[in-house]
Amino acid sequence: MNEYLKHDEWCIIEEGFTPENHRASESIFSLGNGNMGQRAMFEEHYSGKSLQGTYVAGVYYPDKTRVGWWKNGYPEYFAKVLNAPNWIGIDVTINGEMLDLAKAKVSDFVRTLNMKEGVLERSFVAEMSNGNQIKVEAKRFLSIVTSEVGVIRYSVTALNCKAKVSFTPYINADVANEDSNYDEKFWDILNTRSIHGEGYVISRTKKLDFHVCMGMKYDVFKAGQKLEIYPSMIEADKYIANTVEFDVEQGEELSIYKYAAVLSSLNHNKLDIMSKTQNVVSEAYKKGYNALLKEHVAAWADKWAHSDITIEGDVAAQQAIRFNIFQLNQTYTGEDERLNIGPKGFTGEKYGGSTYWDTEAYCVPFYLSTSKPEVTRNLLIYRHKQLQKAIENATKLGFTNGAALYPMVTMNGEECHNEWEITFEEIHRNGAIAFAIYNYIRHTGDQKYLEEYGLDVLIGISRFWSQRITFSQAKKKYVMLGVTGPNEYENNINNNWYTSTIANWCLKYTQEAMAHVKETNLNRYNEIIKNLNFNFVKEISKWNDIIENMYYPVDEETGVFLQQEGYMDKEQILAADLDPAVRPINQHWSWDRILRSCFIKQADVLQGIYLFEDQFDLETIKKNYNFYEPRTLHESSLSPCIHSILASKIGDSKGAYDLYLRTSRLDLDDYNKEVHEGLHITSMAGTWMSIVEGFGGMRVVNGKLVLNPLIPEEWKSFSFKVRFRGNLLNVRVSDKEVGVINEEGEDISVFIIDDEYVIEKSSSLVIERD
Ligand code: BGC
Repeated sequence: MNEYLKHDEWCIIEEGFTPENHRASESIFSLGNGNMGQRAMFEEHYSGKSLQGTYVAGVYYPDKTRVGWWKNGYPEYFAKVLNAPNWIGIDVTINGEMLDLAKAKVSDFVRTLNMKEGVLERSFVAEMSNGNQIKVEAKRFLSIVTSEVGVIRYSVTALNCKAKVSFTPYINADVANEDSNYDEKFWDILNTRSIHGEGYVISRTKKLDFHVCMGMKYDVFKAGQKLEIYPSMIEADKYIANTVEFDVEQGEELSIYKYAAVLSSLNHNKLDIMSKTQNVVSEAYKKGYNALLKEHVAAWADKWAHSDITIEGDVAAQQAIRFNIFQLNQTYTGEDERLNIGPKGFTGEKYGGSTYWDTEAYCVPFYLSTSKPEVTRNLLIYRHKQLQKAIENATKLGFTNGAALYPMVTMNGEECHNEWEITFEEIHRNGAIAFAIYNYIRHTGDQKYLEEYGLDVLIGISRFWSQRITFSQAKKKYVMLGVTGPNEYENNINNNWYTSTIANWCLKYTQEAMAHVKETNLNRYNEIIKNLNFNFVKEISKWNDIIENMYYPVDEETGVFLQQEGYMDKEQILAADLDPAVRPINQHWSWDRILRSCFIKQADVLQGIYLFEDQFDLETIKKNYNFYEPRTLHESSLSPCIHSILASKIGDSKGAYDLYLRTSRLDLDDYNKEVHEGLHITSMAGTWMSIVEGFGGMRVVNGKLVLNPLIPEEWKSFSFKVRFRGNLLNVRVSDKEVGVINEEGEDISVFIIDDEYVIEKSSSLVIERD
């Protein structure tokens, strides 16, 4: 752990400059607006350790797979989120000396991420080698109103001297990915243009031909007065810049306002992308810094009004949940069904910015409750559009008859995982995709989704399961061999309880979905059945045979569901017995040792119990939780939140709270010693789940919202917002009462603890707790 950030309800604050923390801070203080994002690298030159990271949504690179021994079925490439040209750069010189925090003496350094307003700020005093002291204040934001625009205000005040201060705002396209498989650079430069007070660079990806044009325009002010500029224009191979220089008196402030636009060929015609960029920059420039900031802050206020969670009495927990919500809202805004949510969002290169099962299993519940239904619907449509590729993917692996296997990792529907040996058998992802459809419909009530997009996907997935599951003569049961469950510390195992459970659920739910469409829109149903060449009698009877005769491993002695067959043969030691120095084990132990050990990377059986909770009584949930929690290392960020929710379910508020802190402050306090690589964006949705579904006890049962809250001892109260079927509810829980305000929508009936209540529109209800 590394606890260097100050606790505050709305801000993340770093005081004092510690170069060893800089890469971690670059991740933590990242900015994004759904369309682009960037790590919190400095505007001015920095020669210390840094991971420059600027990312443009949907722009990626298929980097050729690197393996020792090629096997059939390997993905051809690993998709990389591209480190795009840097547009935030502003080099600064003071009396001819370059400002560089790795070389200057730095004091009064404060870096602040203001989450309420979506703004990154930094200030410090630097003493240069010649003794000149300056004060710097920098502020930047990526507009969430005009998502192709970013703005910076950067000012220098001469503290103990007169100074010649120069600013060199630039765009630099000479960037590389740290994780490139063959140390290649992925961009070519198509065109550059540097003019008086402006500059543009069009770069093109070497494969797939994505074009990105970045443009900048700026103003310089001294003591509040706009200055005439006479820049020297610089155009190098992959770089454009302007340099302006001014004399400042002691105590005087010189500031630059840099307006930037980032346009990609995903949304614009390649032929006129430069002139479009010029228009966007000019519009931003005309509007000006203050107006852009004002509308940006107002848009953030609206986001918070729909997604904030408050926690009274625990600043660390309050800060953490806002940080998680803030980063999720910065990553995905849901307007574009071609986009998805990479595990690191716009904050690092790891996981290639691609789509994982994380989206359906973790992010969907968050967006369902905090955004309009269209946002989640777009995430589902993303998979619908990739159905054909999922069928091709399954066909490559030997499946037939329209069986669909969605990829573990994808950008465009094709499988593209670098860690193929570990993940290719993680076919459980198919189940999460089906479950998300069910989850969306039960939350929004949008049953029509099935006939429009959902049913084809469900049938493709069920067809896959019905072929992947085989009959064991020895057991006289159906079995699922050679899989990897969510716990990646076991590979190629037989009868993983989670995968078998979700597969069977899919076979049942697909039939329910078919029956619904048949009943409500017979023509559409017939059309789908015909298009898919669905043989009702043959296919459904096989599905039902599997449902009735599936094998699920259970430990005879304890009755615990076994993660897989043979799990009890492992030496049974507990996480508490492990020397903390060897954790995380994936950084200390050989893979062989990890695979043989009983240690569990992340929720697996418990993931299944979480999803299908209504199928198990409390005793069963307790028994499995008490067995698996002590064996789970939570070395995936996706794990503690699920355990926290189940701890709340069984009434273990202390356990739930500890796991909550672990999930919510995972990045802020760097629990897994990897935040320098980027943030765990998708697991942040799990943090939200551990409050709303965990402590709030929120469920949807038979189309109604149910609240069964529990409050940790450390909190006086907590509150959250939930959109549910046209209503926006504000739920507040304290140890004495549960209150619900019906902020938007018609009258609604809600179950609170055990009773049903009607909350009229625009009114509220308070229930005393025992
Ligand atoms: C987890 C996977 C997850 C991936 C991306 C891995 O460490 O084991 O379940 O999909 O990270 O978040």
